[in-house]
Order: sequence, then C-alpha cells, then structure tokens
Amino acid sequence: MAGRYADVIIEISHEKVDRPFCYKIPQELAGAVYPGVRVHVPFGKGNQDKTGYVVELADETDYPAEKLKTITSVDEKGISVESSQIQIAYWLKRQYGSTMITALKTVLPVKQKLKRLEKKKVTLKLGREQLPEVIRQCESRRQSARVRVLQALAQEEILPYDLIRQKLNVTAAALQSMEKQGYLKIESEPYYRNPVRPVETADKRVPLTETQRHIIEDVMQDYRAGVPRTYLVHGVTGSGKTEVYIGIIEQMVSMGKQAIVLIPEIALTYQTLLRFYKRFGDRVSVMNSTLSMGEKYDQTERARQGLIDVIIGPRSALFTPFPDLGVIIVDEEHESSYKSESMPKYHARETAVQIASMHGASVVLGSATPSLEAYSRARQGEYKLYQMMERQGAGRLPEVYTIDLREELKQGNRSVFSRKLQELMRQRLERQEQIILFLNRRGYAGFVSCRACGHVMKCPHCDVSLSEHRNGMLVCHYCGYEEPKKRKCPVCGSNYLMGFKAGTEQIEEAVHRQFPEARVLRMDADTTRTKESYEKILSAFADRKADILVGTQMIVKGHDFPNVTLVGVLAADLSLNQNDYRAGERTFQLLTQAAGRAGRGRIPGEVVIQTYQPEHYSIVYAARQDYEGFYEEEMAYRDLMQYPPAAHLLAVLITSGRQEQGEELCRKMTDLVKEKADALRSGGNTLRPTQAACEDGLHVIGPAEATIGKINDLYRHVFYVRHKDYQALVEVKDQLEQFCREQEGKNQTVQYDFDPMNTY
Ligand code: ADP
Ligand code: ZN
Ligand code: ZN
Repeated sequence: MAGRYADVIIEISHEKVDRPFCYKIPQELAGAVYPGVRVHVPFGKGNQDKTGYVVELADETDYPAEKLKTITSVDEKGISVESSQIQIAYWLKRQYGSTMITALKTVLPVKQKLKRLEKKKVTLKLGREQLPEVIRQCESRRQSARVRVLQALAQEEILPYDLIRQKLNVTAAALQSMEKQGYLKIESEPYYRNPVRPVETADKRVPLTETQRHIIEDVMQDYRAGVPRTYLVHGVTGSGKTEVYIGIIEQMVSMGKQAIVLIPEIALTYQTLLRFYKRFGDRVSVMNSTLSMGEKYDQTERARQGLIDVIIGPRSALFTPFPDLGVIIVDEEHESSYKSESMPKYHARETAVQIASMHGASVVLGSATPSLEAYSRARQGEYKLYQMMERQGAGRLPEVYTIDLREELKQGNRSVFSRKLQELMRQRLERQEQIILFLNRRGYAGFVSCRACGHVMKCPHCDVSLSEHRNGMLVCHYCGYEEPKKRKCPVCGSNYLMGFKAGTEQIEEAVHRQFPEARVLRMDADTTRTKESYEKILSAFADRKADILVGTQMIVKGHDFPNVTLVGVLAADLSLNQNDYRAGERTFQLLTQAAGRAGRGRIPGEVVIQTYQPEHYSIVYAARQDYEGFYEEEMAYRDLMQYPPAAHLLAVLITSGRQEQGEELCRKMTDLVKEKADALRSGGNTLRPTQAACEDGLHVIGPAEATIGKINDLYRHVFYVRHKDYQALVEVKDQLEQFCREQEGKNQTVQYDFDPMNTY
C-alpha cells in the first residue's frame, strides 16, 4: 500500500481525539510509515516537535501540496498501546466501512477530560512513644474528638479521611488544627473507580474433568509453542465451559498475560461475575453499559497500567488496552449482540481474532449452539474444535414435546395453550414447581401464514417469508417482489390466512383466565425499561415469588432457576418466519436455549414446543437437541442460496429525508455495482448458465425499500451484494464510498453492513 501523504493525529491525549492533520511522507521514510506508527512532526506556528500517530495513508490530498509539512522521523520506541489501538481502528474502518474518526471513537475510551478522583488519607506523625503523653494532654483539655482520632491512629497508623470524619464524628477544622500541631498529616492520592464489589467467600474449587483439563492444556501448549489459534468449545449449557475459560486465564495470568472475557450484556449477571471475582479478586474488572463514563475510563486506565489482569464485558470490552494480552474469550459466540448496530458495524468474534493476531494471543469461542460461521470454520480446520456434551453435577437434559397447533385447532382448542401444555402447567402448579412461558417475538415482521395447514407465504425468488404491509400487499424485503394478500390459503383453501398477533400481555391475561390461582411475572421490553427492573423481575422469580414467568427471549439467557421444571414455547414459528436467512438458525438457538432452562436443578425438566410447522428442521433438531443434524441441513440451505457463511453478503442501507432522492441514490449505487459485476463477468469469467444463486463473482440483489421503509421521517432503501470472497466486497465498499464522496446533496447517509445479522 503506497502513499505519499499521511494523516496524523497529534499526540493522543486523554482529552479528545483531534482531527487528523495531513503530512507529506519523505522519500527516505516511505515504507516505514503506515497506520498506527508513531511519528515526529512539526506542529503549529513555531513548528514545535510533536509526536503523533499515523491513521491513514493517501496518494492524493485536497490540500495544496506546497502548504503541507513533512514528517520528521519515525519514533523508534516500537508499537505502543495507542498504536495498536489505531491499527485496529484502521482495520475496522477498512473491513466494515466508516470514517476513521468514527472508528477511532469506537476503539479509544472516553475522551473528554475527566476529573481524577482523589481519596484523602490521614497518617500519624507522632512517634509511638509521644502518643500516650499527647493523648493525656488532650484528655485534660476535654478535647474528646482529638482523643478519638489519636486512639484510632494508635491502632492503625494510616486511616481514610472519610472514615475519621464520619465514623469518629470529627470536624474538618479539628483535623486541620491537629495537622498544624504536627500530630498527623492529611494527604490526597488519586484512585480509580472500581465497580467491583469485593467478595469474601472463599472459592471452592472443583476438580476438573478429563475433557476440561485436556482443553486447557491443549490451548496452553499451542500458546507456549508460539502458535496461538482460535478454538471453539461446543458445549451444552452447564457442561463446564466457564471453568475451562477460568483455567486458561489462570495460566495466562501466571505467565504475566492479560485476558479479555466477552459476555453478551444480557448474560452479564452478578452470578457470572462472582465466579471470576472469586478466582481473580481485585485483579478483575468489569465493563458494561451501567458504568458511568468515569468508571469506564478508569477501567481502561487500570488495564493500561497493569493494575488488572482480566476484564469482563460486552462487545466494547474488546478494546481494553492491555499491555500484554494473552487470550480473548468470547462466550455465547453465536449471540447477535456481538455485532455492532452502529458504524462501523463490526462483529466482535471477527474483531477478536484480528486483535489476538496482532498481540499473538489466543481466542477461545464458546457456545451451546455455535454460529454457522464458527462451526463451519471449525469443520474446515481453521478453528480447533472441542466438544463438551454432558452437564456437570445435577441437571439432566430435559424431555421435549413438540405440539402441532394445527391439530389443536382441528380439535377445537382455541386457547394459546395446547392441551399438553395446560396439563403440565396444572401439574407444576400443584407441585409448586416453576414454569417459564416463552414467546419468541424478536424481529417479528408481520409474516402471514395459514392457521389450518401452516403454510407460510414466501418469496418465490428468495425463499424468505413475505411481510404484510398496511396496504394489503405482501412484500419481499430482499428483492422487492410483491403480491397482493390472498383471502384463501393457496395450499389448502382455508380462510385462516393471517398474521400472528399474540403478545406477552395477551399471554399473561390468558394465564389469569385459565389459572386464576397462579402468580405471574411478565418480562418484556415494556416491563424492563431499566437494567434494575430486569434484575428485579429475575430475582423475584428466583426467590419463588411467582409461579410463572412470561417473557420474550430475554428470559432464556443467563439466569439459572433450579426450580423451573417446565418451559413452554408458545409459538416457535414466530422467529422462523422472519424475513431473513438467519431465521432458522436463530430459531434453533432460541429453542435450544429455552429448553436448556428446564431441569437445571435436581428435578428433571420438560419442554413443550408449540408450532404450526412441527416438521421444520429447526424445530425437529431443537426438540432432539441435535446440533450436528441442524448444522448439516442449515448449511446445505446456505450453500444452495449462497448465503453466509457459504458466501459473504454486504448490505448497503441508504437513508434519506427525501424519498425520491434516497431511491435514486440507491439505484445509482446498485447500478454501479451491477456494471462492475458485468465487467468482471465479460472479462473472461466463464459463467455457468445455472441458477443465479450459484454464480461466481459479484451478485447484486435489489434495490428495494427496507423492511421498515421510514424511520423518523427518514426513508430507507437497501441493496445487497454477494461474493465468495470477503475482500471483493471490501473493494466494492471502497468504490461506493468513493462514489458517495463525489455525490452532492446532504441529508443522506449510507451505511454498510457485512454479513448482516438481520435484513433491512
Ligand atoms: P457452562 O459455562 O458450560 O454453562 P459452567 O462452567 O457454568 O458451565 O458449569 C456448570 C456447573 O457445573 C457450575 O455450577 C460449575 O461449578 C459446575 N462444574 C463445572 N465443572 C465441574 C467439574 N469438573 N466438576 C464438578 N462440577 C463442575
Ligand atoms: Zn392452508
Ligand atoms: Zn425476494
């Protein structure tokens, strides 16, 4: 990558990320200057010597070349923490599409000036032998406050200022005057906010199983041999994966290395943290969205200065600036929350692998239901695969019943609960065991199906379900295909063709009607506006203050409820009929996780899956808890349709305040890519005259209006580009970025999303 100019950010201070300044690269430094390198440059009026970081190289610049200054030299101190952070930012920008500043803001911690917190302490200055005499003097003058202070300092020579003021009830004035007399000294020292509450319970270690020991040893052996890799631990919930992570981290820490542990925010419960605190004490810290800016900032400082060894947190914890990173753990690797929803839309799994490779660190991925991406790479030998298929200690895998809702309708049961589920619920209420009712509503986008035969209206071109629009049309959000909604089912002719409308509230009401004695808690986006309300509901349920917990997918993660012996999935199809290619995978994951909630204690659990499509492979394999079977079938579908991970997909989303403008830009950009695709094809690529889906090269899908065509008065249009090779899509993105820079007209934004988790 040549470049005659370099954008340099001058001396990254803690205060802010400044704008980059453009410099000329002198001939003799060509090749030595690349993103992340620290350089000396002349800066400002007096051309003061400053250091800065190169963030980008360019062949051209908008500035008049004669006005540009020249880089003086490359700083020889080697790669600093900042410089590796900048390299990551650059990688994010290239790989996912965003401006450099946005990428830097993603990677670097809070930049505004933050007041350093200080803690005052009081130190005894009198000699031990003088103490009794001084105390006697104070007593005789009835200065009882001073007596209290001196007696306390006699026990402990340094005490926190606040403690003396509050616990001993001594005024600031009294302490000051004691300082003047030379009895003691009041000093301030800076300290970092520590969000971790100390725990004192001793950790009882379990002897590791053969499998656990093997995995830990294997990972460490590769690491010591200097060939760290990416590992996938495929293990059912409760199989002991967390113990494996802890074992690896312990060894890393004993070698002076640090560890990053990623956990989906929603699963970041106190229970989980506690296990790490018990092992690593105050050398572990946490990063999450409930921390204040100051707390977050202090955690990155503690990491930078080597005051902690382990950080636990969601996606953003990935950018913790450890000096000598040894391992990155990504638990629940399949979770879609690992994909950033704002630019750059990076995936934490992929980014973890990149960061680890820069530091020579290992990556350990773990999941009960690995993503197709991770599992296919493990199959191909790119990742090393380990299996842990048995639950540790108490807890067996539950019994699963799949109930055909079409049969229920035929038998005249119009309740949201099948007869089997009703029977089991009644039984549990009698036995005072707990029940979870799970309504899988996520990303639910108005699909239409037949209540009598289960047929789902799908796009003939894309094999994803059509979404019902208010105007009565059924629309495909991949290719724009539409057809009017029919009154009768095209398969069986019934009149029961409709969208599914039940929500958690209706379920709660239905429980009250059919089981008036049951105590019910509801958990969904409405009842959990704050993190506290979320924790409150979960702990109330854990304390058995309710018999039934009704909720959306947020209830199937994280928490352990040993007394839950029945899980009812009310309409498994809901997530199956999202209009995107990951619907089957997501459904399988959710059902498997939901089933995993039952029978975590000593009493075995049962699971009822209600569905209109009992024959769908996602449901069949989830009911059997057969990951391999699911993987084979899902991967065959992705291969056939060339959806990720069989190929890579780039979604380009255009938002505009003016509908026609947005539509036009989207069309122009689509045309640009289509031209490129045609050119590539005629340029010697022998094209097989088979289905479009099997074509080599670039494939363009769209343009179309987005699923949600308008948000906040901004119109959304989308198109997709597909290619086997990720870098080919990066080039497409670069060209589109170039094209957009040349376009006039503000009020339009373009977002790139590689291998999107949802469709637009
Ligand atoms: P996962 O992370 O796969 O869900 P955990 O590591 O949380 O599994 O383990 C599940 C439970 O089994 C925990 O209570 C843990 O203490 C216990 N456990 C893990 N490993 C062992 C072991 N080798 N022997 C006994 N109990 C274990
Ligand atoms: Zn039908
Ligand atoms: Zn379509």
